[in-house]
Amino acid sequence: MISPAATSVLGSPLPALAEATHALNAWLEIDLDALDANVRTLRGAVGPAVELIAIVKANAYGAGVAGLAPALEAAGVDRFGVVWVTEALALRRFGCRLPILVLGHAFPEEAEEAVRQDITLTCHSLALGEALSRAAVRLGKVARVHVHLDSGLHREGVSPKEAVTLANALRGLPALEVEGLSTHMANADEPDDSYSELQAARFAPACRELDWIPYHHAANSATSLRRSAARYQGVRLGLTLHGVLPANTPGPALHPILALKARLARVSEVPAGDGVGYGLTWRAKKPSRVGLVPVGYADGWPRALGNRGYVLIAGRRCPMVGRVMMDQFVVDLSALPAPPREGDEVVLLGTQGGERITADSVAELAGTIPWDVVASLQARLPRLFHRGGRVERVVAT
Ligand SMILES: *Cc1c(COP(=O)(O)O)cnc(C)c1O
Repeated sequence: MISPAATSVLGSPLPALAEATHALNAWLEIDLDALDANVRTLRGAVGPAVELIAIVKANAYGAGVAGLAPALEAAGVDRFGVVWVTEALALRRFGCRLPILVLGHAFPEEAEEAVRQDITLTCHSLALGEALSRAAVRLGKVARVHVHLDSGLHREGVSPKEAVTLANALRGLPALEVEGLSTHMANADEPDDSYSELQAARFAPACRELDWIPYHHAANSATSLRRSAARYQGVRLGLTLHGVLPANTPGPALHPILALKARLARVSEVPAGDGVGYGLTWRAKKPSRVGLVPVGYADGWPRALGNRGYVLIAGRRCPMVGRVMMDQFVVDLSALPAPPREGDEVVLLGTQGGERITADSVAELAGTIPWDVVASLQARLPRLFHRGGRVERVVAT
């Protein structure tokens, strides 16, 4: 059931369609009750003195940022983190009012709009700081920045020494406030994460020397759960908000928020010896009943799952046969006691009957990580946000 208040953020006619998901080829369901529970659980795990920075980069890890970010704000997270300035601007368009931190690289040309929209940038150069300061003076605002210290990941940021010099130089600029100092761990979810200790030891002297900076942060989901000393004033949580624990990370019980579902598009018979899909990489050993699932690699479903993955139909596992194509793949229905029908529900991620397919299990079969599985899910899939058993909101492009 769709609630009367359900809205399509991007103005598509989907709410009408979504009232009957049987009219959709495929869709994502996002469970906002599970999201609320995860926020509460993670807040309990890190303690009340530590801010939750909800990382909603990359379309909120595929969940649909236009729907997920407002729900996270309502669930009581403290800040948002994204990677691109354009992602931060989009959050403001979606009505988010919390502080937003851009973790990634920003150009001086982006300074003015960032200041106008109260977006906090990670500042890696004096040139960017000066552009922010000028814009803030012009607009009669204060530009807030964080300095990112490269403690050993060797991705973004500045060296520990440069961090101190840069922060002190930024401190002297008018209308600019150095609010935060951050770093990021390289081995957060590796079996052995002791490299985090070395990184923390490189971060600590800068924190001491820059003790006038009020906000330090270093932990992603894995580090926040494995290394309580690295929580500082805030933790940057992505995957755990989605109810998935990183590898090698013991943690509290979380609830997966995302399900990917489709409708069986065609049921057909393949004679023994015939092949299925491009390249005919699967051959029917016996006369076989197969089903067409209208989801493909263009939707972000991993092509690597060809002849390896499975879906749930009527609560049972049905193996994927042949290659994943751009818009479809085929499953073997032979294991089902009764022949399914066109329109029957197919679960690619999520639960059906007593069975469950997790992002972890899909990632393992596809030879990748759960972040990749969820963040790859594309805009063609409508996002249906559920609360209390009803569709509260539809996001579709
Ligand atoms: C993506 C990202 C995070 C969130 O990581 P999770 O493992 O999903 O919690 C945190 N910090 C930075 C710098 C990131 O890029």
